[in-house]
Amino acid sequence: MKVVIIGSGIAGLSAAWELGNRGVRDITVLDQYPLATRASWAGGGILSPICPWDYPEPVQRLFLDSYRQYDDFFARIQHESGIDPEYLRCGLRIQPVVLEKARSWCSRHGIRHEISATGKTPELFLPDFAQVRNPRLLKAMLSLLRQRGVRFVSGVRIQPPPQEHRLTYVTDGQQRWHADAFVAATGAWTARWLGDSRLPTPVKGQMVLFDSGKSGVRPMRIAERIYLVPRQDGKVLAGSTLEPGTWDSLPKQQAIETLIAEAAALDSTLTPDRVVATWAGLRPYQPDGIPLVGRHERISNLYLHCGHYRNGFNLNPASCQRLVDAMELEQSD
Ligand SMILES: Cc1cc2nc3c(=O)[nH]c(=O)nc-3n(C[C@H](O)[C@H](O)[C@H](O)COP(=O)(O)OP(=O)(O)OC[C@H]3O[C@@H](n4cnc5c(N)ncnc54)[C@H](O)[C@@H]3O)c2cc1C
Repeated sequence: MKVVIIGSGIAGLSAAWELGNRGVRDITVLDQYPLATRASWAGGGILSPICPWDYPEPVQRLFLDSYRQYDDFFARIQHESGIDPEYLRCGLRIQPVVLEKARSWCSRHGIRHEISATGKTPELFLPDFAQVRNPRLLKAMLSLLRQRGVRFVSGVRIQPPPQEHRLTYVTDGQQRWHADAFVAATGAWTARWLGDSRLPTPVKGQMVLFDSGKSGVRPMRIAERIYLVPRQDGKVLAGSTLEPGTWDSLPKQQAIETLIAEAAALDSTLTPDRVVATWAGLRPYQPDGIPLVGRHERISNLYLHCGHYRNGFNLNPASCQRLVDAMELEQSD
């Protein structure tokens, strides 16, 4: 089986990874930009939806399936690539939180949790929740996929597919890439690429990176309007805005200043002079909140792996398995 994947973010790379795990050897990944540089590079790497109990059931299931696989998943990637993606069970503190709902969800799913009521409002602590350093994970995945023989082509904008029920190739107008099956891992560009407004569209998120000067393992924090992700080397990520309806992926001064002020309110050591970088990315927003994983409704050999919105990393291990389950099932029909 020959597969072409459009998109080299986490959705495309994990599709290539899982296809390879199931024995598919002829895989090409295409991207219009330098590889793995869009939403997947820009993200925070929190391995949990923000308050998973508030998500629709299918997202919760994808998360819980993924959560149980993180240790093995990241260990395999590190072992095979030789690159440490900095997967870290640092814990997650959430405040404010609807305690009863959170507590009963954690108990129902066997997730360790603690309530601390030292401040004005109670705080939920999830000691086993983890982060991954997403740019390093992408680097590790690119490296191991190259070792496995996956071909990568960047700088090729793939044209929308023709109005047919089966694809034989995709093209950027100059070259053609033939395959038996195609995966649209096209992120925020999916509605535009397939000319269908029901598919994922962009929601911009801006980020600030601080150098706190304090290394070591510290829990991530989610507050009302901001989250903090402390990396082991002392860097701290603060995010993020939610801005629909724009293709502009540059950080803007006003939003960045607000993020800096909110970060300082949560941790007084995060002062403006400690900012080392700012950036923004376009999340693939799917209107009903549920990622699209499976066959396209019209094109029989096009599979969608997109619309993970704020959860591209935390849903990833189970999401790429579901995708390849759907592909194999239909190939063997
Ligand atoms: C600021 C921010 C913070 C986030 N924090 C987290 C977090 O803490 N935890 C978490 O799990 N998730 C987080 N996310 C969400 C996560 O990053 C996304 O869900 C995930 O990266 C989406 O991956 P993707 O591969 O679908 O999209 P992308 O990484 O955007 O990749 C899609 C690729 O498709 C390519 N493409 C599209 N159309 C074409 C075409 N026609 N031809 C060629 N190439 C094409 C694009 O160039 C792009 O490289 C965050 C996102 C942002 C922006």
